[in-house]
Amino acid sequence: MSHVFHRSLTAAYPVAVGGDGPYLIDASGKRYLDACGGAAVSCLGHSDAAVIAAVQQQVGQLAYAHSSFFTTEPMEALADFLVARAPEGIDSVYFVSGGSEAVESALKLARQYFVERGQPQRRHIIARRQSYHGNTLGALATGGNAWRRQQFAPLLIDVSRVSPCYAYRNQQPGETDAHYVARLGRELEQQINELGAENVMAFIAEPVVGATSGAVPAVSGYLRQMRDICQRHGILLILDEVMCGMGRTGTLFACEHDGVTADLICIAKGLGAGYQAIGAVMVSAAIRDTIRDGSGFFQHGHTYIGHATACAAALAVQQQIEQRDLLANVRAMGDLLQQRLRQRFDTHAHVGDIRGRGLFVGIELVQDRASKQPFDPALRLHARIKSRAMQAGLMCYPMGGTIDGQHGDHVLLAPPYIIDSRHVDEIVDKLGMAIDACLQ
Ligand code: PLP
Repeated sequence: MSHVFHRSLTAAYPVAVGGDGPYLIDASGKRYLDACGGAAVSCLGHSDAAVIAAVQQQVGQLAYAHSSFFTTEPMEALADFLVARAPEGIDSVYFVSGGSEAVESALKLARQYFVERGQPQRRHIIARRQSYHGNTLGALATGGNAWRRQQFAPLLIDVSRVSPCYAYRNQQPGETDAHYVARLGRELEQQINELGAENVMAFIAEPVVGATSGAVPAVSGYLRQMRDICQRHGILLILDEVMCGMGRTGTLFACEHDGVTADLICIAKGLGAGYQAIGAVMVSAAIRDTIRDGSGFFQHGHTYIGHATACAAALAVQQQIEQRDLLANVRAMGDLLQQRLRQRFDTHAHVGDIRGRGLFVGIELVQDRASKQPFDPALRLHARIKSRAMQAGLMCYPMGGTIDGQHGDHVLLAPPYIIDSRHVDEIVDKLGMAIDACLQ
């Protein structure tokens, strides 16, 4: 997610000119196995014929119509498709152009909901320390990544933070999942009480944490506990599934795994799979009804809301995933990937943890397995691994995150849902080589 200024600072990167299934091809003809979907985006690879045809068809028919004048067939069809498969209680969708916009929209929907219900004092957001919710100011304020927030701090609204559910780092030896969940629940309750429950608007969390710590699933029972606490205090639960949603973890919505629903669910990356830029907020009936029967108007908007071509692309993507039963492949290849990674790294001195769900897998690197001491950030280990892997023709997503104030390197893997066992072998071989080369 390094953001470069095009035409001035991109010279160091190869020029991508084509795609072939899970491979990207550069101008010299070199092929790169995309083991991270860019940033967990390209879930159908780079040459899906059905999606390309749908985009071409839609552009030919009607590329775009502004949402304050018209709705469109692809937007309505995509909304119907998603709502029919959404967790309980969700029954409408607000389409935007990406993940940060989805999070901004969810925060504003939550706020407007309480204003229209006569509770304007509800304005506090509680988030988790280990989180990333986007780079626009509201989303950045909400996320817990200190490095990303640092220089913009004076511009950011106040957000309260609690511990993430991060078993490898924070679950105490001998502590059962139930006790760990109860401890995290008490911490959230305490935070709510300090703010005054009547002042709290929303609690936001990623069901499986992505960019900040590399595919960390919550332990069993955690999301249910957080949901119950929010409900008890009349606080909205926002699940940020921008990275982990849309099949990435083996269920269409990541929270299905926990049997939990939310008031607002943000989705993006796997929605359009990179064929078009699109995100969305899935909205509960209660929020939709409050606004529809109140002011009748969500006080928000962007030029490209419900972009017809983006919706047509996303609908084709979702139909492909369903018709080809790709979620079964996500689960099977995800299990195989974790198994092969364990075979390769289980005795590796610097691989502290391998975790994840479906084709969303993280590897945490440590100086020492016993103490879990991270590497010195000055080594820029993650950046070196990325570069070695690219040399070997592998795209992976290493990050140097912050682990409760400490630096920590991890590698995130999020390959397309279409991979087979040969691709799994290629990922493990090339990644193993890149990690070894950087740690010698
Ligand atoms: N939320 C989560 C969980 C993300 O991982 C990201 C991006 O990585 C975002 C929000 C922001 O999405 P975007 O980069 O599309 O604005």
